Amino acid sequence: MTNHSVDEFGLISRFFGNVGAFDESSFDSPVIPLGIGDDCAILRTPPGHEICLSIDTLVSGVHFPESITPYHLGYRCLAVSLSDLAAMGATPVAFTLALTLPESDPKWLSDFSQGLSELANEYQIKLIGGDTTKGPLTISIQVHGLVPAGQAIKRSGAQPGDLICVSGSLGDAGAALGFLELESTPDATTENSRHFLERYFRPQPKIALGCFLRGHATAAIDISDGLLADFSHIAKRSGVGGLLYENNIPRSVALLSEMEGQSLSLALTAGDDYELCFCMPEACYEKLKNEALFDSVSVVGVVSSECGLKMKYEDGSERVLSPKGYTHF
Ligand code: ADP
Ligand code: MG
Repeated sequence: MTNHSVDEFGLISRFFGNVGAFDESSFDSPVIPLGIGDDCAILRTPPGHEICLSIDTLVSGVHFPESITPYHLGYRCLAVSLSDLAAMGATPVAFTLALTLPESDPKWLSDFSQGLSELANEYQIKLIGGDTTKGPLTISIQVHGLVPAGQAIKRSGAQPGDLICVSGSLGDAGAALGFLELESTPDATTENSRHFLERYFRPQPKIALGCFLRGHATAAIDISDGLLADFSHIAKRSGVGGLLYENNIPRSVALLSEMEGQSLSLALTAGDDYELCFCMPEACYEKLKNEALFDSVSVVGVVSSECGLKMKYEDGSERVLSPKGYTHF
């Protein structure tokens, strides 16, 4: 902003001056020598590490319903950004926040900041800077994560014969979209709708799993636009294809009971789950499958040398799939 009012600076220090913390005790010099308050923040890369950066912008009415509570908005914005670090195997360190607000409402800001803080504290990351402007509600968060040099998990390493794996269950956040107009917060009435809304409003970035996969997974991506669309990104970057098994696509009890007929298409093409999809050689999977972090991991298919996606159905038939997912334009 060019015309800084006292209110603007007051607002920043009151609601954003102390969000989150980063534990620097395991590094021999500070990783964040300078946070909020100067023209720039400063990050110092510990020896032998690289910084992974990702930015996500969420626009009101496009990426979240206008009725979302500010608490859930703060939580969700940071969660979806952290999910990109999880997909690279990076440990989150810090983030910056560009906030465009139609008005400065202290109650709204306090609740938004609380949603941010809850997740920032959980993952031990610090808000180190940002920008505040007036306009239609839009939030951009850039996250900064550390990864041992050369060990970030890219989309480009999948090899034919690798297993295609997925964490958690898919389709629940997509199912929530059917309930958003009726109930805009997780205080929904039935257990199943509460479950779907919780998955939509409070996605859990899979940071621990992503870090664990370093040195094991050949490729990884977070599932923001649906399994088919997101696996297709891995396939394209790696120059491979994939065969998925219908029976193995992980779906929650809530999804199967509430949305029986649509559960497969929701699990394959609905976005917003923020689970991880990754590839690894079968021998590697066999070694890791009994680890606690693999409790929620399913093998959903196998990487093939020919491009394109196919599905093997319960009756043994195979069909070509189109990589339908959420596209913005
Ligand atoms: P400048 O005009 O030099 O960019 P600003 O007035 O935009 O400075 O910001 C002042 C300080 O407050 C900077 O350190 C900036 O990073 C921080 N800041 C501004 N808005 C936010 C925000 N929404 N969240 C966190 N820090 C912010
Ligand atoms: Mg600025």
